[in-house]
Amino acid sequence: MPTKQKTPGQGRAEAEVVELVSALIRFDTSNTGELATTKGERECAQWVATQLKEVGYETEYVESGAPGRGNVFARLKGSDPNRGALMLHGHLDVVPAEPADWRVHPFSGAVENGYVWGRGAVDMKDMVGMILAVARKFKAEGIVPPRDLVFAFVADEEAGGAYGCQWLVANRHDLFEGVTEAIGEVGGFSLTVPRPDGTDRRLYLVQTAEKSLKWMRLTAKGRAGHGSFLHTDNAVTTLAQAVARLGAHTFPLVVSDSVAEFLDAAGEETGLDLDPTSPDLDGTLAKLGTIANLIGATLRDTANPTMLSAGYKANVIPQTAEAVVDCRILPGRLTEFEATVDDLIGPDVQREWITDLDSYETTFDGHLVDAMNEAILAHDPGARTVPYMLSGGTDAKAFAKLGIRCFGFSPLQLPPDLDFTALFHGVDERVPVDALLFGTRVLERFLLHS
Ligand SMILES: [Zn+2]
Repeated sequence: MPTKQKTPGQGRAEAEVVELVSALIRFDTSNTGELATTKGERECAQWVATQLKEVGYETEYVESGAPGRGNVFARLKGSDPNRGALMLHGHLDVVPAEPADWRVHPFSGAVENGYVWGRGAVDMKDMVGMILAVARKFKAEGIVPPRDLVFAFVADEEAGGAYGCQWLVANRHDLFEGVTEAIGEVGGFSLTVPRPDGTDRRLYLVQTAEKSLKWMRLTAKGRAGHGSFLHTDNAVTTLAQAVARLGAHTFPLVVSDSVAEFLDAAGEETGLDLDPTSPDLDGTLAKLGTIANLIGATLRDTANPTMLSAGYKANVIPQTAEAVVDCRILPGRLTEFEATVDDLIGPDVQREWITDLDSYETTFDGHLVDAMNEAILAHDPGARTVPYMLSGGTDAKAFAKLGIRCFGFSPLQLPPDLDFTALFHGVDERVPVDALLFGTRVLERFLLHS
């Protein structure tokens, strides 16, 4: 990629990042969850490798478990070989998009009205572009970071990573050799909150924890029979009762350390009573704006029934009925969660985990966190970084299994009125150009102090 004309004061990475993000979006890497219809990862990964090779990196292209599931790895030597390596990871796949719904074509990567538009603009080709821009600058300009950096661009995050991070962790340990810490999605973005004195404060939310992602299949077995007879052992009835009880259940409020730290900081800044014991915590949280939905989901376990299937003819009582429940469980809560579920579904319904990705939590302290703080404050004095827990899942779950300490830190300074969380998998997904420039500056500084 030719280096664009720099505006005065701009470094090489800033000059490149917008075009890199736009080019990444132009690869349609839609992950449908089906091997046959998922596409574009190979082409995108090979293009990423070309961008790295162009400035002198050795890259490794790996397919993870199936043809076309492309991943790229590269390393940059740091000055201190005794320190563990820091990995920067980003997924290249995106969720599908329906062009008819969009203002611009979702795979156009259009740069308009101060935004880069398209599927992946915030999830997460923004960060992939920022990592690439900084990696290219360091190599091209001979900049040596304090510790080894590992750049990982991976497939299949949007379907849980069986053909991406999970396969890589299980089959290619060597790619992660020496890595002790990592940064990736979803964190580092700003949230502007009102202060009691009428001013605003920008908080940067760094992700330090994730709920587990566990999908559960429920199966009820009964006696098959004719739909016209009296029948007391109907699998559909048994299953429906279990699903209704589970779906209507509210799990208890449990405040994990990351969530407590977030509530403390947000309460301190806004003057709102965000004490976990406050009787109307959900109501008060709503005053923080759109982020409330995400934070609210990290205050308790959830079990949302999402699929039901039974029967094949109107007058045949089927022998079995099945449901799928999307369960998201807080760190340390699994045993209690399972006991509650067993109580609710009763002895006649069997359960099994069909997707089983563990929760993850680390502490918001140490040298790497100091480097995040320093880099954010250097470029946004007066801001504050705070930890938070993600209710969803990222590739960090798989990397954490290797003992890697993971953070969601993809720095973006966002306009106060932008509903950022709604852009994830949303229509008209877009990222502000200024946010990318800011993020690139922060990332560069952070890596030099990491
Ligand atoms: Zn993502």
